[in-house]
Amino acid sequence: MSTSRRQFLKMIGASAVIGLGGISAFEILQPGQFEASQLSKNPEALVGKRWGMVIDMKKLDNETMQKCIDACHRIHNVPNIDNPKEEIKWIWPETFEHAFPGMESKYMSEEIEHMQFLVLCNQCDNPPCVRVCPTKATFKRADGIVMMDMHRCIGCRFCMAACPFGARSFNWRNPRPFIKEENREYPTRMKGVVEKCTLCYERLAKGLKPACVEESNGALIFGDLDDPNSEIRKVLREHYTIRRKSELGTEPSIYYII
Ligand code: SF4
Ligand code: SF4
Repeated sequence: MSTSRRQFLKMIGASAVIGLGGISAFEILQPGQFEASQLSKNPEALVGKRWGMVIDMKKLDNETMQKCIDACHRIHNVPNIDNPKEEIKWIWPETFEHAFPGMESKYMSEEIEHMQFLVLCNQCDNPPCVRVCPTKATFKRADGIVMMDMHRCIGCRFCMAACPFGARSFNWRNPRPFIKEENREYPTRMKGVVEKCTLCYERLAKGLKPACVEESNGALIFGDLDDPNSEIRKVLREHYTIRRKSELGTEPSIYYII
C-alpha cells in the first residue's frame, strides 16, 4: 500500500474518532485533491525556507487587484456571500486607514488616503492564531506558511479573536450553495469552520506560484525571504517597504511598497 493511501485511510479513521464519522470521504477530500495534496512528493514543487510576498502598490491598479481576488476565490471555492457579517474573504481590498491603522496622518496625500490596498493573511512569523488554536487546526509549517486544516477545526473561533488582521472568516452557513463554479480539484467547506489564505500551498506543491501572484502582472513578488539571492530579497533591498501593524510583533511576511 502506498504511503499516501495509508495516510488517507489513517485520516478517515481519525475523523471517525474525533466525531466526524458522518462526513464522507469525498467531503474530506474532493476528487483530484488527494493526489494534488502535499502528501505526494513532487520533484517540481517550489521549496523555500521562509516564504513571503511583496505587494508593489505602485504597480497594482484596481482592475488587476480584482483579478487577483477573483483568481484566488475561484480556485479555492471561496463562496460569494454578500452579507458582510457572513462573507468569506481570503484576499480583499482595504483602505490605508484600515490596512495600516496608526500610520495615517492628516497631511498624507489624497491619492494614498483613497487608495485600495490588497490584504490577505500575513503568514506571520509569530502567529497568535496558531498559539490559541486548541486542536492544532491552524499550524505553521517549516517554510512559514500558516496552514488551516478545516477538518480539524471545531469552530471555536479563538483564532479569529487572536488574529489582529481580520484575516480569517467563519462559515456561519453552508457555503456550498454560494460557490458559482466549483473547482473539483480543491475541497469545499462546511458550516462551522474557519478558513483563510494558505499561500496556495497546493500550487507550490505542483511547482506553481500563488494564483494572486500569477494574476498580478508583476505587482506581487513571491519568494524565499531566507534566500539572499532571491528576487524578493532584491526587491526588499531596493525599496522601502512597510508591514501591517508591525508594532504588534507578529512579524508579517507580507511587505508593501507604497
Ligand atoms: S495574519 Fe492573522 S491569520 Fe494570518 S498568520 Fe497572522 S495572525 Fe494568523
Ligand atoms: S496566496 Fe493563494 S490563497 Fe493566498 S490570497 Fe493569494 S491566491 Fe489566495
